[in-house]
Amino acid sequence: MRKVGDDLTATYNNYIDGAWVTSHTGQVFPSTSPANTNEVLGFFQKSDGLDARSAIEAAANAFGEWSQKSAPTRGEFLFSLIHLLEKHKEELAETITREVGKTLREARGEVAKTITSMKQLTGEATRLTGQTVPSFDERVIGYTVREPIGVFAIIAPWNFPLGIGLWKIVPAILAGNTVVFKPASNTSLISVKLMELLIKSGVPSGVVNLVTGPGAVIGDELANHPLVKGISFTGSSEVGLALGRAVGARGGKIQAEMGGKNPAIILADADIDLAIDSIVLSGFFDNGQRCTGTSRVLVVPEVAEQVKAKLIERAKGLKIGNGFDPDNHNGPVADEHQLNLYLHYVQKGIEEGGVLECGGKRLVEGDLAQGYFVAPTVFTGITQEMTIANEEIFGPVIAVIDVDSFEHAMQVANQVEFGLSSTIFTNDLQKAFQFVKGIQSGVTHVNMPSTHFESQFPFGGKKISGLGPREQGESALDFYVETKTVYIRP
Ligand code: NAD
Repeated sequence: MRKVGDDLTATYNNYIDGAWVTSHTGQVFPSTSPANTNEVLGFFQKSDGLDARSAIEAAANAFGEWSQKSAPTRGEFLFSLIHLLEKHKEELAETITREVGKTLREARGEVAKTITSMKQLTGEATRLTGQTVPSFDERVIGYTVREPIGVFAIIAPWNFPLGIGLWKIVPAILAGNTVVFKPASNTSLISVKLMELLIKSGVPSGVVNLVTGPGAVIGDELANHPLVKGISFTGSSEVGLALGRAVGARGGKIQAEMGGKNPAIILADADIDLAIDSIVLSGFFDNGQRCTGTSRVLVVPEVAEQVKAKLIERAKGLKIGNGFDPDNHNGPVADEHQLNLYLHYVQKGIEEGGVLECGGKRLVEGDLAQGYFVAPTVFTGITQEMTIANEEIFGPVIAVIDVDSFEHAMQVANQVEFGLSSTIFTNDLQKAFQFVKGIQSGVTHVNMPSTHFESQFPFGGKKISGLGPREQGESALDFYVETKTVYIRP
């Protein structure tokens, strides 16, 4: 693999039908480091609908042979892929830090989680089983088989650029489908490296195709082309719901993992230090740029002052700087768009009467002026109707909302349109189970950070946070297969 630093201004191509090719447009775009926007990491193909169409056709051509292979044979590349991920793990982590700004510690964590997730998928192709079902007619043999479907488009966000890409692509192809992969533009370099690993691990030509460039243009082709049988998308709810409408209207399949506005409830009997540690980790680390990050803290009166004081103190103590420096807790936010979102929502919070306790600004001292560094932010005095109590910020901003009671906390927690993750801090077992039963989120926790995630469990959201079958765990391949029911009277 090419190494970060080898040739930072190299131009990288799309990968279509087993070859690295340039775009029909003849145009490229840069991917730059959010820690220093003068640092160009490489130039990438600014593809359009025609490029997407070439990739779709290549994937459709490859489907015949790939889908006919036995599932266990298809799965063999995965052992090699895991080995390659292990071998290049440090280089992959460094590329992630350089391209999206997260600290090297976080980036190493992403690579490690990706490897665990790939291990979880090992042997999944050998378990692509159906059922035998008894018939009322004793002469009939009845069973089901799970079959591949065709070409899938994989559209990924930038926040876990290695993990999310692979945990979608790999189940899709294990199940016998072929893929067009469209990563987020600002993670094109790590996506090229991901593609290089898949090629090296033995995935045949045409089975996975990579197209880089603007989401709306490429996405339009992927959403509307009749050969694309389904889209697995992770990103904002706005785009995911629109894709769902477009793909659904022509009978295609959609799996969309979208935004969150995840609450952490703190009750009077909670271990407050545990709650604060968990909220700092899940709300501030990685600049709050995780779909499962805590963005609302709902606290009852008995412990409200204590919680606020501790949270503000911890937020103020976080060190922000280049993600390669191990002393820093956070690097920059991922790009200018994320910076502007952060500034926009801080402004909204102030305008609507929230109390800005700390942070709320871009950091521009010294070298930080070259990048998109921002201060961890705590708002108190936030009420249910305010914008920052409802809309996803995807930045290091925590809104503390005072609630009267557990019942009030549940009502506020469930008021938002999102339903991805949640957590409660309490030692009252009855309340914990009441919370688990009543909370409207696809993933939930008790006395744990809302970001806690393990790849052997199913993952996905409710409400506008998720559409379609769950990712991960035993359900990982469900989206990518269709069940055929067979009755045989010999
Ligand atoms: P985004 O929706 O802007 O982009 C996601 C992907 O969609 C990118 O590849 C982008 O190029 C592409 N895209 C953009 N417009 C498109 C269009 N019109 N048609 C087709 N594709 C299009 O999201 P983002 O800023 O990259 O990521 C942040 C969002 O992702 C947040 O809302 C976050 O909560 C969400 N997210 C969700 C999960 C989850 O599992 N639920 C995980 C990570 C991130």
